[in-house]
Amino acid sequence: MKGVIFSIKRYSVHDGPGIRVTFFLKGCPLSCLWCHNPEGISPEIIKTDRKDRIGEMEFSEIEDVGHKYSVQDLITIVEKERVFIERSEGGVTFSGGEPSMQLDFLSEALKAIKNIGIHTAVDTCGYTTGENLLKIFPCTDLFLFDLKHMDPQMHLKYTGVSNELILENYRLVAESGKDFMVRIPVIPGYNDDDENIYKLREMIIKINHKNLKKISLLPFHKIGSSKYKRFNMKYSMESIVPPSNERMMELKEFYMKTDIKVKIGG
Ligand code: SF4
Repeated sequence: MKGVIFSIKRYSVHDGPGIRVTFFLKGCPLSCLWCHNPEGISPEIIKTDRKDRIGEMEFSEIEDVGHKYSVQDLITIVEKERVFIERSEGGVTFSGGEPSMQLDFLSEALKAIKNIGIHTAVDTCGYTTGENLLKIFPCTDLFLFDLKHMDPQMHLKYTGVSNELILENYRLVAESGKDFMVRIPVIPGYNDDDENIYKLREMIIKINHKNLKKISLLPFHKIGSSKYKRFNMKYSMESIVPPSNERMMELKEFYMKTDIKVKIGG
């Protein structure tokens, strides 16, 4: 069995504990306006015209975004990094996109990585069936669960889907006894208003958070914005200014009033 992966990050320190290898699986059921991996939304392998410049000369090359990998390919990549992973108590993270879009491949890969004694994490937007999550529970040591907006209509407007299923699955993960972390992108004018921030915090506190290891507040940035042009996609966040350090500190302090560890960044 093969999966489609559009990026592999070695020495990743923002996708779970320690040094990790992060595999970005193609396909996402959401289309967040601020997504910085827009090339990962389509489940298909797409072609792009990559332009490079050396001095006055411009080079153009057609390349695939997304490549097929077998589970054994992944193991080979991970084994090369084992020493760093073990020394740092790190592991492997599956991100995307939404990794559960390739459920069979994800399950096989998680199982194989656990079998070689390496910690596994799954970064999910939560928009999948409960059955899909249950299928990967046994081989997932940690979930990174992304939360964006508490208002179903706003969630639909900004991400293309409502949040009901996501919140249902959040409860499933939180009450499962599995370790998990929450990731909240902070997008000025979209989800950083006091009301949403308050409601998100209340929801997190009310639901079992015994195994919640950390809340990461991820400030909006435009690092991936040039990709929209490259992939002929519309980017509507050009005029949005990243949140100030003061605002991020304010939000951090607000979340720190809970008994949960809070961090700005991953
Ligand atoms: S859930 Fe993540 S990967 Fe999917 S569109 Fe939103 S930001 Fe992009």
